[in-house]
Amino acid sequence: MGASGGAADAGRKRMRPAEKGDLFDVLPDELVVAVLCKLSASAARPADLVAVFVVCKRLNRLGLDPLVLARASAESLAASAKSWSDFSHGFLKRCTDSGNLEACYILGMIRFYCLRNRKSGLSFIAQAAIQNHAPALFSLAVIQFNGSGKSKIDKDPEAGVALCARAASLGYVDAMRVLGHCLQDGYGVRRNLAEGRRLLLLANAREFAAFLHSSSSSSPLHRHANRRGSLLKDLDLWMRSTPPPEPHPANRFLAEWFTSRSEVLNGEELSLCSNGGCGRLETRRHEFWLCAACNLVKYCSRACQATHWRSSHKAECVPFEQWLDATAGDGQDEAPMDGGAGGDGLVLE
Ligand SMILES: [Zn+2]
Ligand SMILES: [Zn+2]
Repeated sequence: MGASGGAADAGRKRMRPAEKGDLFDVLPDELVVAVLCKLSASAARPADLVAVFVVCKRLNRLGLDPLVLARASAESLAASAKSWSDFSHGFLKRCTDSGNLEACYILGMIRFYCLRNRKSGLSFIAQAAIQNHAPALFSLAVIQFNGSGKSKIDKDPEAGVALCARAASLGYVDAMRVLGHCLQDGYGVRRNLAEGRRLLLLANAREFAAFLHSSSSSSPLHRHANRRGSLLKDLDLWMRSTPPPEPHPANRFLAEWFTSRSEVLNGEELSLCSNGGCGRLETRRHEFWLCAACNLVKYCSRACQATHWRSSHKAECVPFEQWLDATAGDGQDEAPMDGGAGGDGLVLE
């Protein structure tokens, strides 16, 4: 009895709280890195990563392992524009070096639009796009359609359409919408009304489904959707009160960056995209497209116009009723636009 009691004491001794740190120390690096990979992939904010880095030297070292940085989520890389620093720039760069596509896209957008380093920004966005990162493909398309960073004669609608087609094939709603309009208008691609319409309907259906999925069961829209035989009615209701989709962290950064520098922008007479969740700034005067009905708002793309139209501009666009009368009610639920050749003095009608 005495001997077994002594063995039990020895066992308890090994589990004393003061010695638990030793258990962590003997864990192999590979195991700790595997856990950190899971954590970085699911982190909801940059603070989630920082909280790990500051625990101890070992977690700091392993937290910066390329395997961990390669898996860091877009939300964990969402640096704040207000606290942008050489450190945050360096951290994003380190993540791009580890092959993190979200970091490539975010840093590319920041360099292209905010820091105006067009060549480097384009290169990072392309790095993500080439590996089928849908937002990067779409952003490259916007740059090609607008000739961003160059002159208006450098617009390349065919390249824009090709990039949109790739992003649309990955299910990216904004790309489906832009491609649908291009097909309807024959802009950058042979005109195909039926295929264009199909893509526009598909884009709406995808957004509708995503909205229902994210809505709580108490939402009136959700209840309507569950009622048999009323799908078209529900879709119409949703179209009339569509909340803007959650912007990508790169777009949130851009919006925050330029909003805090409005005096500089006014001096240069450059306009922000009027879709608040976009954040893109013109790279030259009159680059973006005006709303044809009111001439008061500008958009980087038809996707942004459609989003802004359904979330708020439909109610704000002052002469919409006159425009509606002039078009004899055609396209009542769509923003006043046509033709793909917008921007640089032209309008979306
Ligand atoms: Zn935009
Ligand atoms: Zn308008």
